[in-house]
Amino acid sequence: MITLQPIMHILSKSTYIKGLQCEKALYLTKKHPYLRDRLSIEQRAKFQRGTDVGILAHQYFPGGVNMAPNSPSQFPKKVVETMQNLNNPAVNVMYEAVFQHNDTLVMVDLLVRDGDQWRAIEVKSSLRLSQTYYNDAALQYYVLNGCGVPLSDFMLMHLDGDYVKEGPIDVKRLFKLVSVIDFAKEQEPIIAANVDRLKNVVALPHAPQVAVGPHCREPYPCDFFGHCWKNIPQENPDIPFTIDYKALFAQAPQPRPRNIAVLSLLHHYPAVPELDGTRPYQEMLLAFVLSGDQEPDGHTFWNCIDDHSRWHEGPELLETLMSRYDLVVTFSPSPVHGLKIFNLYEVLQNAQMFHPLLKKGMSLQHTFEAVFHGAKLFEHSRIIVEALAQDLTSYEQVKEDLIAENEAIKDIYQHFFK
Ligand code: SF4
Repeated sequence: MITLQPIMHILSKSTYIKGLQCEKALYLTKKHPYLRDRLSIEQRAKFQRGTDVGILAHQYFPGGVNMAPNSPSQFPKKVVETMQNLNNPAVNVMYEAVFQHNDTLVMVDLLVRDGDQWRAIEVKSSLRLSQTYYNDAALQYYVLNGCGVPLSDFMLMHLDGDYVKEGPIDVKRLFKLVSVIDFAKEQEPIIAANVDRLKNVVALPHAPQVAVGPHCREPYPCDFFGHCWKNIPQENPDIPFTIDYKALFAQAPQPRPRNIAVLSLLHHYPAVPELDGTRPYQEMLLAFVLSGDQEPDGHTFWNCIDDHSRWHEGPELLETLMSRYDLVVTFSPSPVHGLKIFNLYEVLQNAQMFHPLLKKGMSLQHTFEAVFHGAKLFEHSRIIVEALAQDLTSYEQVKEDLIAENEAIKDIYQHFFK
């Protein structure tokens, strides 16, 4: 017999996962959310991607009842309705079903009737499953089990990197399902203890004392990074960077190039393939600027932002253009292939360059600021373009951004290798 649950909640999936990473982050989220860092455009794009993939996953089990509340105030009502739907033979699939147990509220992406039982499915927009996803599933299993929901299975659903789009998206082949119920069952006593511990953290009169450390970035960059790290002396952006010069110069291009070009690339990695013949997260070149003295007006700008189907043309054109130089310098966190490519990102990583500004990752902007002591460089739009690729209106802005990036790459290259 399934019973209705109390309506107030203290923890949710996200606050539980946050609490596992850091009790102080959980406390601040609940009691002082205004201290959070502003969400970056990159983070917002990531959330949006997760939402879009989640909605697409509904098609795997069509015809379900959507239980998602319009606002947090509707959670108690949705908890009651979800429990009623479990006993309604006309409902076979629920999206975002809302459950609550031991003051912990979860929304289950997909809940599918399976004979007398239910199959719960959590959707992930990634190609691989991390430990955090397993922990997330185990928490949901704990709550559902606590609510008395008879479960035949608990599964994680994620994008299949082997899927190649041909015609309309085939959701049955786009997604992979992995059963995690055995793990979730095994974890139940641990989850119960964690929930009680984290509820006690939320009830504290003050934030727990937690020193900053590697947990501020793993498994996720913490929202309170700016708040907690602001008084750490080594955060001062004016201190010099450190680098292993021996390792750096061992990578210097040989023989010394006379004819150098600089390259900035704009890539697009759609989670759900857009074009036939492509896979989830396929790297597609949308635009580049090649700057060098062989180029008209010093720069060649190529783009297919308005027509992604032309993305194959970029690498071919680039290869031809690059063949006129001894060396092409770029700065790219993802590998760039080409015989003449000198990727400053990899070179500086190999030389173990360090500066507090690079703690969250080595971006071109932060590297430039570290090398040239806090000089502000540019506001780049590559992330905006990734997020809004379909609606982009200003190619000129993209071109300007990529040219500015090239100037920065050139300055950094000359600083170390002139
Ligand atoms: S920045 Fe670090 S110490 Fe501060 S709340 Fe986040 S994880 Fe905890």
